[in-house]
Amino acid sequence: MHVPKRIRPQVPSTDRSEQTAERTATRTASEPIVVTPTDELQIDAVAPVPTEHGTFLMHVFRWVGDDEEHVAMVRGDVAGKERVAVRVHSECLTSEVFHSLKCDCREQLHLALEDIARREQGVLLYLRQEGRGIGLANKIRAYALQAHGADTVDANRMLGLPDDARRYDMAALMLEHLGIRSIALMTNNPQKVEELRALGVDVADRIPMIVTPNRYSEPYLEAKRVRMRHQLPVRSSAPPPRPSSNSVIPIGRRSVTGDAE
Ligand SMILES: [Zn+2]
Repeated sequence: MHVPKRIRPQVPSTDRSEQTAERTATRTASEPIVVTPTDELQIDAVAPVPTEHGTFLMHVFRWVGDDEEHVAMVRGDVAGKERVAVRVHSECLTSEVFHSLKCDCREQLHLALEDIARREQGVLLYLRQEGRGIGLANKIRAYALQAHGADTVDANRMLGLPDDARRYDMAALMLEHLGIRSIALMTNNPQKVEELRALGVDVADRIPMIVTPNRYSEPYLEAKRVRMRHQLPVRSSAPPPRPSSNSVIPIGRRSVTGDAE
């Protein structure tokens, strides 16, 4: 059984938060943050990256002794600021690279970047914890079970895996390093709010992230609403939009969606 790699638990210390805020408070938006590596977390690189949503200052973070690289996409001056719009986003290769329609991760990623750019201030944290933390192979094993009718929660349980194995200690430390005082968290997931608060992050507000489902993602979003308490609109009785005739339809439509047609 694959054991998901866990990032080390780390409760942010007030002292280091103050030091970080001091270090970052005097910089201008165009200057990279210079942070002295700690024995736990380090920033390996910082550079501006132009995207279709505008230019973000990209920071690459890594636990010392761990190869996994996590990203902060920063827009505007966030150090010492309150209620900064923050998306804590976990990697989803299937959706973000291959445009899988089974979930809404890619849409949420781009909605968040677009919204942060519009606000001219905010941060998107991109954490390398694929498949709600169970890894790519386990996620695809769960998809195989979903093809036979299990929902996303039951499929994980049938594999002996947690419903959600994501951890946010890295996110808490990244926010601390960026000197952010409090955040408006861009999420529908109350558990994420609770876990970040437990790690010492001041979540002052929540910004809903509502994406229109497609016929493949709707069962997944419904399972997240009903079984994982995600704050999503109640499913309409109206049929969801179908892909247009020139869309690429996955082979074995019934097995992909797991629904009975
Ligand atoms: Zn996804």
